[in-house]
Amino acid sequence: MSKPLVVTSVAEMQKVRQAMTGTIGFVPTMGALHSGHATLMQKSLAENEQTVVSIFVNPTQFNDKKDLEKYPSNFAGDLEMLQKLGVQILFAPPFLEMYPDNYNYQISEKEMSPLLCGNFREGHFNGVLTIVLKLFNIVRPTRAYFGEKDYQQYQLIKKMTEALFMNVEVVGCPLIRDENGLALSSRNKLLNGEQIRLAQKFAHVLSSEKSKQQVLEKLSDLGIETEYIEELWGRRLAAVKVGPVRLIDNVKI
Ligand code: AMP
Repeated sequence: MSKPLVVTSVAEMQKVRQAMTGTIGFVPTMGALHSGHATLMQKSLAENEQTVVSIFVNPTQFNDKKDLEKYPSNFAGDLEMLQKLGVQILFAPPFLEMYPDNYNYQISEKEMSPLLCGNFREGHFNGVLTIVLKLFNIVRPTRAYFGEKDYQQYQLIKKMTEALFMNVEVVGCPLIRDENGLALSSRNKLLNGEQIRLAQKFAHVLSSEKSKQQVLEKLSDLGIETEYIEELWGRRLAAVKVGPVRLIDNVKI
């Protein structure tokens, strides 16, 4: 497969987009790509004539500066994955390209945003919705692909496109796990061997038949700090801390 075209400025991406025809699939990411991301790209490649992937670690969605600073990155490895899959375009802009307004303009949603992750990460979903809207305006995709790993995010983005009459189809993609049931995440790269085993236990307990209370107790016995565990939208969703790393997961109930 040939290398994707790498675009780093908004003006150039708009120019490239202008020249594109046919259906365009879009997969926004924060890089440090893994096989979970790859499934979104494969779906986009199968359903559209061209696929654009973005890599942008969006500072406005990080409530914790340390979390942003240590967020994993692997640009060379990411490019290799995109090339292997046959992705045509990579959009990887620097911060100022995306925020010429210095984040003075923000999208906020009032009902679902304050729940779950939003209750523990102040301003997180404002940052997510704002960057996704900006990216959609630049890339103008036919379809955009989001993982159910970030279930609340996926719901919020889908509903934003409906509320703002945006001409894009938001496609949800199944959560991908490793062979031990742990949800794949870029942040897993920050875990040591022992922490990975603990994280796998978290996934196992979350998907067990245990009640919410029993899950909480079991996680506490394992030394895992639970931020929240809630049952909503036919799912059991949770955020925990394993060592210094915050992990989220959800399972159908
Ligand atoms: P991120 O780079 O973490 O912002 O993720 C980019 C996209 O990939 C989001 O739509 C995520 O929900 C999705 N994603 C990340 N991990 C997984 C996974 N394990 N399974 C499915 N989708 C995922």
